[in-house]
Amino acid sequence: MTIAYLDNNSTTPVLPEVIEAMLPCFSESFGNPSSIHGCGRRALVQVKHAREQVAALLDCLPSEIVFTSGGTEGDNLALKGMMSPGDHIITSAIEHSAVLGTCTWLEHLGCEVTRIGVSSNGQVEPDSVRQALRKNTRLISIMMANNETGVLQPVEEIGKIAAEADVWFHTDAVQAAGKVPVSARNIRCDLLTISGHKMHAPQGVGALFVRKGTRLQPLFYGGRHERSRRAGTENVPGIVALGKAAEVAMQGFERGEDKKMSTLRDRLQQGILAQVEEAGVNGEGAPRIPNTSNIYFDHVEGESMVISLDLKGLAVSAGAACSSGAIEPSHVLIAMGLPAARARASIRLSLGRQNTAEDVDIALALVPETVARLRELSPVYKKTAISI
Ligand code: PLP
Repeated sequence: MTIAYLDNNSTTPVLPEVIEAMLPCFSESFGNPSSIHGCGRRALVQVKHAREQVAALLDCLPSEIVFTSGGTEGDNLALKGMMSPGDHIITSAIEHSAVLGTCTWLEHLGCEVTRIGVSSNGQVEPDSVRQALRKNTRLISIMMANNETGVLQPVEEIGKIAAEADVWFHTDAVQAAGKVPVSARNIRCDLLTISGHKMHAPQGVGALFVRKGTRLQPLFYGGRHERSRRAGTENVPGIVALGKAAEVAMQGFERGEDKKMSTLRDRLQQGILAQVEEAGVNGEGAPRIPNTSNIYFDHVEGESMVISLDLKGLAVSAGAACSSGAIEPSHVLIAMGLPAARARASIRLSLGRQNTAEDVDIALALVPETVARLRELSPVYKKTAISI
């Protein structure tokens, strides 16, 4: 049984107040928002309210919000909706596969793609974006916060570069929204993706901010939903949940909950590093979202850590993924210049609103003892090096 869940960058539990907000959508206001009868109108009112709540979170107009099925769809819609064969897109090597995979598809379609690298702290250098600009550059897509390291990217500077070059700018803010204030206006982006299940709404709902005047080709053809930018009957319960989660996040910023979370995260991180040698934080020194800590433990496999910790009731994740029978190190950590062995030795701990100081205490007890045990079992690790 999971006793402490510290994998909130993968998905978050739906908050009780969010469940409460969405429940009437299954019974009282279950209508189709396109229907003109009272039942449909009630659903439409709910969707309108949620649109205002999400717009408030992103500091934009309600009409600039397009509801989607989540982050993957938002990223696909932003990129495929803006690019045509012959166009050039600038992205980074540390993007989520929703962006990187779409870029590969765009290449097959006849688009040109530049994937810029990052510095050792995990940040994109705005200058390398400027240098990558070409005559046919149509879109820049750089994420706001990285899902593995939590490192915040200099999106405001990149937005300025895009505006000066008269190039469209998309940012994947899936891991930033709800954790740090996000202002589409200040970033000066034209497109911005968020996902409900990363901010305590359910899986399967999200939104794409599309700046007024941005001409976007839809992914789906059908009805004129979402001002013809996303056909398909709206996921009313999901949209209402996303709106409520946006409101809760805004209230949290007013109460300084983001600062409290970073204090908790820092205690977790420092507590682990104080007990374990040959360990360190990936992306340390760079600005980060307040909930994420990506830590390497040399001489240990991240996957083994995840499994061992899970058996003890602590849920965390490893950046590495099993692909074709081999453990592939994280493309993000490799892009930051980590040797493959250190990238494989990394795990990500990510907090959510539901986490308490006790959850951190559990992690502080379990992580060091698990590292020590796995190192002891390792034939290559010198046992004398263990200092706990
Ligand atoms: N972008 C980032 C940065 C993510 O972390 C994720 C999910 O992990 C996605 C996009 C995809 O979002 P979704 O799971 O809602 O499709």
